[in-house]
Amino acid sequence: MIPKEYDSEVAELKWYDEWEEAGVYEFNPDEKDNVFVIDTPPPYPTGNFHVGNALNWCYIDFIARYKRMKGFNVMFPQGWDCHGLPTEVKVEENKEITKSEVPRSNFRDYCEKFTTENIKEMKSTMKDLGFGIDWSMEYITMDPDYWKNTQKSFVKMYKKGDIYRKEHPVNWCPRCETAIAYAEVEYESRKSKLNYIDFILEEGNIQIATTRPELLPACVAVAYNPNDERYDDLDAEKVEIPIFGHKVDIIEDENVDPDFGTGAVMVCTFGDKQDVSWWREFNLPLRKTIDEKGRLTELAGEYAELEIEDARKRIIEHLKEENYIEKQCEIDQNVGLCWRCDTPIEIISEKQWFVKVDEEEILNKSKEIEWIPEHMYNRLENWAHKMEWDWCISRQRVFGTPIPVWYCNNCGETIVADEEEAPIIPTKKKPKTKCDCKDPDIIPEKDVLDTWMDSSISPLYITGWPNESFEDLYPVQLRPQGHDIIRTWAFYTILRSLSLTGQKPWDSILINGMVFGEDGNKMSKSLGNFVDPEEAIKKESADSFRLWAAIGGIPGSDIQFRWKDVRASTKFLRKIWNVLRFTLLNIDPDQIGKEPADLKVIDKWLLSKLNMTIKDVNKSFEEYRFDNAVKKIREFLWEDLADNYLEMVKWRLYRGEDYKAKYTLFKAIDSVIRMVSPFAPFFAEEANSYYSDELIHNKKFPEPIFYEDQEYIEKGELLTEIVSSLRNYKSEKGIPLNEEIKKLGIYDAPEFIKSSFEDIKNTVWADEMEVSTDAPDISRKIVGVEPDMSILGPEYKNESAIIAKKLENMESEEINENLREKHFNLELNDRTYKIPLTALDFKEKPFSEGKEVDIIEVEELMVVIPK
Ligand SMILES: [Zn+2]
Ligand SMILES: [Zn+2]
Repeated sequence: MIPKEYDSEVAELKWYDEWEEAGVYEFNPDEKDNVFVIDTPPPYPTGNFHVGNALNWCYIDFIARYKRMKGFNVMFPQGWDCHGLPTEVKVEENKEITKSEVPRSNFRDYCEKFTTENIKEMKSTMKDLGFGIDWSMEYITMDPDYWKNTQKSFVKMYKKGDIYRKEHPVNWCPRCETAIAYAEVEYESRKSKLNYIDFILEEGNIQIATTRPELLPACVAVAYNPNDERYDDLDAEKVEIPIFGHKVDIIEDENVDPDFGTGAVMVCTFGDKQDVSWWREFNLPLRKTIDEKGRLTELAGEYAELEIEDARKRIIEHLKEENYIEKQCEIDQNVGLCWRCDTPIEIISEKQWFVKVDEEEILNKSKEIEWIPEHMYNRLENWAHKMEWDWCISRQRVFGTPIPVWYCNNCGETIVADEEEAPIIPTKKKPKTKCDCKDPDIIPEKDVLDTWMDSSISPLYITGWPNESFEDLYPVQLRPQGHDIIRTWAFYTILRSLSLTGQKPWDSILINGMVFGEDGNKMSKSLGNFVDPEEAIKKESADSFRLWAAIGGIPGSDIQFRWKDVRASTKFLRKIWNVLRFTLLNIDPDQIGKEPADLKVIDKWLLSKLNMTIKDVNKSFEEYRFDNAVKKIREFLWEDLADNYLEMVKWRLYRGEDYKAKYTLFKAIDSVIRMVSPFAPFFAEEANSYYSDELIHNKKFPEPIFYEDQEYIEKGELLTEIVSSLRNYKSEKGIPLNEEIKKLGIYDAPEFIKSSFEDIKNTVWADEMEVSTDAPDISRKIVGVEPDMSILGPEYKNESAIIAKKLENMESEEINENLREKHFNLELNDRTYKIPLTALDFKEKPFSEGKEVDIIEVEELMVVIPK
């Protein structure tokens, strides 16, 4: 017997294990038709599965559950993208060490242990939220079983010529002591000082402006814009750097901004990306002035070994002492920071590994993918055009996939491992192939790969690549992800898929937005607007949280977290439960079979509405408009089913056998529960268990197979309006809903209302009722009069108050007697006042058969109730 209340705590503890045991989420690798493979994001194991993750996974789970119920063989794997700086930095913090203070293998162990614990935490939240993941397909990128594939992909791309090693300027974090990719640099506006410094010419000097005087020893040229008239007379070819004394070329280039400083700038190796392109274009020398730890090198003379900030201060002092600085002023500057530790990045030239980026090819391939929403493609395009150089993939760190390479110190040869050797750690093993040296001096590559090298093969990994059978499942159907990683994860995945398979990785990419706090700001613990999914589960339920995610917004848009929506979802589920409970108390679901012939108008109406809802909900799912899907289900459940149909069908159920009513009601509530099951899986399963032995997630999603007829939608609408207006009437009059209305007449009614006579009569509790297609016999009587003081006042001055009082107290009969065609006769204090009708407001009431009645108008028809 179904309990009175739905207990989410019990249901949400119970069902997950049952689903896993029943294998509801298992992908069947032998069934290759009708597959739906989702390339789910492997989150970074921070230990905290935050509300933004939760939103993304809710979307994924809605799709996966829907597709499963539509008969697809769904693959919903789950990975963990483990490697990389954030974990290393955390471990360094926790253990109070730096990576170079402990042996590499120990450091790696710490990172692995830390990651394993974090995965456990996050996994538990994911299960609490009911995500239907096939855990047998879990992958962890720090496991050799995964990263051997990263290495294989490296070797393949190296052999193809898509990966190469060379000395090239790269973005460098001096704190993390590693190269980082352009995509890992975050820009921030900071205040800084612009120094106007004299550079020495043979005669006189030329002034340049710079925020970074510590780069003077790295200066390799001075540049100005050829259109800048200030330098028309400049004919010197060389200029001497103050303090440091070396001489550099003076060059002209149109990329110099004449409005910045004096219009002359120093070109350094390297202050920014522009320096890199000048350096390349003008074939300038390389002066490495900053080392891997962010200290000045020998080239800085007396300033060698100083850290950047310190060196800057001292060099400025020195310049001032020697009168090289004319002035200083404050400016706002866009500073590139390490995405992980916020340290300003440097650009230094090092030997690094790179992946070739052919932006046009990548963009062409990307256009074959369906972007949801469409405009998100632009973000990829903008990003691709911004990239200045190829993707730097080597990292001077420890916790990453080892680059499977050795070098011979003797002949300089680079030895790349064979694919078959993967997984391999070059620092621990010698290469199989050798160089031609008699006496090779082999040194292993210590660098590891950028973590995006791991995660950008996720769709390949889940489909079984590099086994040829992967082609059966490739490209996969869907990639869901956040818009913050379009320039990294999406971009790199397309690039890698193109290089390794020549194909697009997925048919569609679905982008979710970010979650903002209730106050509209980005969620943060310090702002106090932070919500943990576990907190929402505790306060309301996992299903209520999931429903918030569904109705909170449109995929692609940022959405706001609102407790109001979560609580409203709890109410919505309670409402479904109540309708189900009523149904099960009155119906034996085992007896529900075929659709009966000659359904009543109201049954046809409900089934038509149900059918329309099913169509809308299916369409909304196909368009990833989860908000619309939930709204449609909610409208049907609340307005059509609960508020209207249920009330109109109660009497039929209470009277016993009425198969038409039972059939209609059961089909409606069962369809609602199935449709809501992708959003509220625990609730739906619990509800379903009271009338079915089959798990709901193994059932079919409702299809539009029910009776639908526009004529009956309109007829039903009229019936429900009659009934609801009578219910409103009762509540306005303070009459209990279950108290009888003695007499009731419906006039000007369309013919069909007669066939619904009983439905109306029994729903509104009418003792006696008449339905007629004719107009009612209604007369109107004046029953009172109200004076308009704005006219009466000026006309009768101080008498107006008494006149008004007399008028207000008049009975119906007296008013009718004194009413004339153009005025009203009022006898007062032996005088007759002829009051103009414009000053009076007559109150009329309807009468029928001599009795006062109330009239409710519903569209063209009239409902008459004697008082
Ligand atoms: Zn850093
Ligand atoms: Zn050699």
